[in-house]
Amino acid sequence: MAFLLLAVLALGLAVWIGMWPSLVERRRSAVRARPFPDAWREILRWRVPYFRRLPADLQLQLKQHIQVFLDEKSFVGCGGLEINDVIRVTIAAQACLLLLNRPTDYYPGLHEILVYPAAFEVPTRQIDASGLVTEKREGRVGESWARGQVVLSWHDTVEGAAEHEDGHNVVLHEFAHQLDQETGSANGAPALPSRRRYREWSSVFNAAYAQLQARLGVGEPSVLRAYAATSPGEFFAVATEVFFELPATLQEEYPALYEQLARYYRLDPLSW
Ligand SMILES: [Zn+2]
Repeated sequence: MAFLLLAVLALGLAVWIGMWPSLVERRRSAVRARPFPDAWREILRWRVPYFRRLPADLQLQLKQHIQVFLDEKSFVGCGGLEINDVIRVTIAAQACLLLLNRPTDYYPGLHEILVYPAAFEVPTRQIDASGLVTEKREGRVGESWARGQVVLSWHDTVEGAAEHEDGHNVVLHEFAHQLDQETGSANGAPALPSRRRYREWSSVFNAAYAQLQARLGVGEPSVLRAYAATSPGEFFAVATEVFFELPATLQEEYPALYEQLARYYRLDPLSW
């Protein structure tokens, strides 16, 4: 009897797990079919000028992604900040730019977006070669945690959205880390469809990383800022900011890198 009960429960669980993706998709389709609120459209108009740069089909896609993102993710105000729709829509619009044209599960590992009014401090701990531990507090404008959180400074989010042609955007940066973290640690290689694509990605990114370090070494300017040379993960995040905001310069300085990013994001910002 107990065995039969267990078998029925196991079967029920298997059916439920099997149906889960279609239930999620059904819910998302219903959310996308809702009318996009006028107030949100106004927020896009005033706070996210990049939106106007997109072709009409991508604008529509982005609005639908924003609806699903805001339906599924929680926002937490920190340091006295109260969350409102201006904050939610401005962040969601930029985060969802990275999902356009791609099959997406909407940052499945991400649950919460923590927002501070401005730059915030985090405790850091460094151990040098001799084992000496240094603990201090460092200022940050954004962070991406593999355990399901992105942390943002609202002040820098607003600035990043307003100045959309300077290659600096904290939201694009932190959400690029989220994509990178979907495959484990942020190592500069997000999920790619085949081993051949990983080989191409790694050869192009390694060459561009070396090229940036060489440029920095002789004081030559580069569209990729020096912070990109601190690790492959930061390189991918900074390259993503520049891909969206300064595509022509990126393509000119690092054509193979631009091509890899265009294939990964399935977008060609140069043509907009
Ligand atoms: Zn970073």
